[in-house]
Amino acid sequence: MKHRIVVLGAGYAGAYTAGTLARRLSPADTEITVVNAVPDFVQRLRLHQLAAGRQIEAPKLADVFAGTGIRLRVARVTAVDPERRTVTVADADGGGELGYDTLLYALGSRGADHGVPGAAEHAFDVAARPSALRLRERLDGLARQGEGGRVLVVGDGLTGIETATEIAESRPGLSVALIARGELGARLSPGARGHLRRACDRLGVTVLEHTDVEAVEAARVLCADGTALASDATVWTAGFAVGPIAAAGGLQVTENGRIVVGRTMRSVSHPDVYAVGDSAHAIGDNGRPLPMSCASAGYTGRQAIEAIVGRLTGREIANTKLAYGYNHISLGRRDGILQLIDGEGRAKPRYIGGRKAARIKAGILTMSLWANSHPTFGAPRRRHRLAAAPGPAAAKAAGRAQDGRVVAS
Ligand SMILES: Cc1cc2nc3c(=O)[nH]c(=O)nc-3n(C[C@H](O)[C@H](O)[C@H](O)COP(=O)(O)OP(=O)(O)OC[C@H]3O[C@@H](n4cnc5c(N)ncnc54)[C@H](O)[C@@H]3O)c2cc1C
Repeated sequence: MKHRIVVLGAGYAGAYTAGTLARRLSPADTEITVVNAVPDFVQRLRLHQLAAGRQIEAPKLADVFAGTGIRLRVARVTAVDPERRTVTVADADGGGELGYDTLLYALGSRGADHGVPGAAEHAFDVAARPSALRLRERLDGLARQGEGGRVLVVGDGLTGIETATEIAESRPGLSVALIARGELGARLSPGARGHLRRACDRLGVTVLEHTDVEAVEAARVLCADGTALASDATVWTAGFAVGPIAAAGGLQVTENGRIVVGRTMRSVSHPDVYAVGDSAHAIGDNGRPLPMSCASAGYTGRQAIEAIVGRLTGREIANTKLAYGYNHISLGRRDGILQLIDGEGRAKPRYIGGRKAARIKAGILTMSLWANSHPTFGAPRRRHRLAAAPGPAAAKAAGRAQDGRVVAS
């Protein structure tokens, strides 16, 4: 029987990892199935642009995986059972169960409302395509009503900054405010913070600092200091968390639902499960958790590939790089900030701002789309056969004793 690898999610982490595994493992003894909720690759990095009214490309996953031998199942994952090694999926035909020998969990993350009353019901977000499209529809509606619609973006993390500036630039008829809990862009260097402030001024984004939102209502937000701010569209960007599927399946997760993995992206509680991208709580080479980001999706994916190929084929597992070097923030289409980060995760004094940073960011977006639509590019063409089963070498490589007990994590 072939070794069944099931990859959950075909976003930045899952598509690349699945494609590369297909290139490196022989189809004679491995079968790879990818399960994704939608039939196309969603460029999550551009969802704020989609919400603001731009068209973004969405390559069909069937084309992305053409010729790789990967089976694509367009379905929603509803549960994982790592004890029985099954995944439950729902689709138009009713769904069913998929069995696996190795599971790669790459379902990404979603917006986190942190339990703030009304946020889930009344606020929009840009964490997923359907919600970004709902926001776009709302902004279109406000534009039809004429000048002066008020948009409040809650959260001055990277997504909040990109969303507020993108909407302000694309829809100059709206009044856009950005709400920051502390000082605007507190994690940036002083120079980059100044650049951000000037960009907000130029685009007409009102910045409300030291403002804690305590509740969201249909037409206003309520702040901790008692202020009520009128809003026609509140956009919640105050954090991301992983959905409940991993925790419900009994995998060890962090407070925000990320799967706790070891150096090789293997779940610390279930050695047949690997997690990559936003879903993984992985520690970087600097000893700090890797942030949810496109770069982390790539680094964790590469490490998981090495580990899965190594364990299944009995080869030594290389430690690949797990780093986070910079933040790249777009400020509309013509401006941006590239902030370098030091080994401790702090902003270095140096940053690049303006058109040059915007061009670099545009290049990164184009490159990451290309890389994800060509997931086998650059992967070695040589396909490895699995180590002979059920001998001790293969069992050791797979992390199990011959009787199936776990021997390594
Ligand atoms: C607006 C926005 C801008 C961003 N900008 C940047 C940036 O500039 N730089 C940066 O580094 N990061 C940025 N990020 C973060 C970045 O998008 C994520 O870190 C990255 O997408 C993580 O990759 P992933 O593969 O883990 O998750 P995703 O890319 O989200 O992929 C998850 C996949 O799983 C699928 N899925 C989810 N749930 C289910 C289910 N139940 N069943 C089946 N399929 C499911 C989804 O359809 C998706 O295909 C941004 C995020 C947002 C929202």
